Amino acid sequence: MKEDIIFNLKQVHQRIENACQFSDREVSDVQLLLATKTVSPEKIRIAIDTGETLIGENKMQELRDKDSALKDLNIERHFIGHLQTNKVKDVLKYASCIQSLDRLSLAQELDRQLQKEGHSIDVFVQVNTSFEDSKFGLAPNEVISFLKEIKNYQTLNIKGLMTIGLLDVEKEKMRPSLYWLRKIRDKIYQADIDGIHDLKLSMGMSQDLELAIAEGSNLVRIGTSVFGNRFLGKEIWNENIIE
Ligand SMILES: *Cc1c(COP(=O)(O)O)cnc(C)c1O
Repeated sequence: MKEDIIFNLKQVHQRIENACQFSDREVSDVQLLLATKTVSPEKIRIAIDTGETLIGENKMQELRDKDSALKDLNIERHFIGHLQTNKVKDVLKYASCIQSLDRLSLAQELDRQLQKEGHSIDVFVQVNTSFEDSKFGLAPNEVISFLKEIKNYQTLNIKGLMTIGLLDVEKEKMRPSLYWLRKIRDKIYQADIDGIHDLKLSMGMSQDLELAIAEGSNLVRIGTSVFGNRFLGKEIWNENIIE
């Protein structure tokens, strides 16, 4: 198990390097986040021991359950799943970034809680660029007005945009949803919103890592290629099920 994870991690870093080279990009421009849903603390620890520092969880309960087992490690934890408003207070105890900010009511609740605690948090705005009902996220045409609203919240540091791309066996079917996120960022820059600049793109998973880097990803979120398959049987990507 240990050898597998170490080997897989090397491969993933190699894939990132190759993709960067292919797209004439700096490797330092692309961060690796380990998507650790359903992965045991023991396995996570192996990855961290090889030098990884960033993990992402989808569920509040997993975040909490693994916390004590990982306490001694120097890691950064992002929340990457659908976040219910009533879990905000708990999530803020463990995560330093919410990558799944997808609605105003969530921004308001985050702001309310953070003001009370007297600090701020990094956020990515999740956009549904695959237009699938199975995914959360703002519709592309809602993003600019959403940013105009939330830029006034001093407690939210807007770091970028996040999407879960369309997964398909055919590579070229996966590309448009990644391309969209970059285009949306271009549109945001054109709109020249006060205080909104230098937005990172969080996109790319095990299946579409290379395409995502080609389309400008700054943060790839990888689970399966490092830790192996999570589900037995048919795997359908559905955020509702994961939650
Ligand atoms: C699980 C998950 C990933 C990683 O997906 P893999 O296909 O296992 O690499 C990335 N992003 C989110 C939001 C996830 O839930």
